[in-house]
Amino acid sequence: MPHSIRNSVMDAIGNTPLVRLSRLFGERAEIVAKLEYMNPGGSIKDRMVRHMLARMPAGRQRVVESSSGNTGAALAMASAVHGLQCDVTVPGKTSVEKVKRIQAYGAQVHVCATDVPEQDVRSYYAVAEALAAEHGAYHLDQYRSELNRQAHYADTAPELWQQLDGQLDYFVCGIGSGGTISGIGRYLKERNPRITVIGVEPRHSAYRKLVTDAPQTGEFRSAIEGVGKGAPSLAFDPAVVDDVVQVSDEEALEYCQLLARREGILAGGSSGCVSAGIAQLLPRLGSARVATIFPDSGVYYLSKYF
Ligand code: PMP
Repeated sequence: MPHSIRNSVMDAIGNTPLVRLSRLFGERAEIVAKLEYMNPGGSIKDRMVRHMLARMPAGRQRVVESSSGNTGAALAMASAVHGLQCDVTVPGKTSVEKVKRIQAYGAQVHVCATDVPEQDVRSYYAVAEALAAEHGAYHLDQYRSELNRQAHYADTAPELWQQLDGQLDYFVCGIGSGGTISGIGRYLKERNPRITVIGVEPRHSAYRKLVTDAPQTGEFRSAIEGVGKGAPSLAFDPAVVDDVVQVSDEEALEYCQLLARREGILAGGSSGCVSAGIAQLLPRLGSARVATIFPDSGVYYLSKYF
């Protein structure tokens, strides 16, 4: 078999499987999930980090990002392979397990203030900016960078399209930075404008208002990690999203457990969130073919969700 030996773990990113969720959702609509937790760093963020590092300005030896979760881990993994010095800033509330996950790859974790605005010099975002300026480091800046959605347009989307043989009616996707839904959504609509793209986010998050007439109600606060924002990120492209639905944290967690117990898929809270969204949409989906993304594993949240 060609290419069976990879040069590094970076070459093991991608080619993640598509799995039918017929035990959970029945067989009328065909719901298929792309299991991004099977990437070597444990999440879809491996792809974005690989794309961004490939476009890093020449001569940089040091990288920095503010992320308590999957992006931090993916960057730490990639930095180990490429021999880069890696700094990751996280808010003070970050769990010990998450800090250790990033440190395990040899990256340096900077624990910053919790619950201060982004502009505050103590925030994990501002500390990342300051570290980048001080050391001439490459700051990935996923919430503002064009390269975030571009990674999914260039990598995740064509892979998904091929696996589906170009046969798809709906793409339903969780929204955090918005990079995944925006990059994949654009690619799919360019190939077939009849494909409907629907985002899913926790209650009171900011994206539904950008896409629909529904007002943003209440203050955004969610226990589901990775999805939802109080204010929209620049990585999100509302032009390629047809609708956004919201689900409660309780619904997301219920579907997280159902995925494990009925499908044998131990996925993270954002996969539960998008599954709860699909359950809500089911009457509208008829006998359509629907694809979704499961961004990370439930292993990171065992004591929190299961
Ligand atoms: N789920 C998880 C677990 C994540 O870490 C992220 C990234 N924040 C997402 C979903 C959302 O992906 P995106 O940032 O591309 O919208």
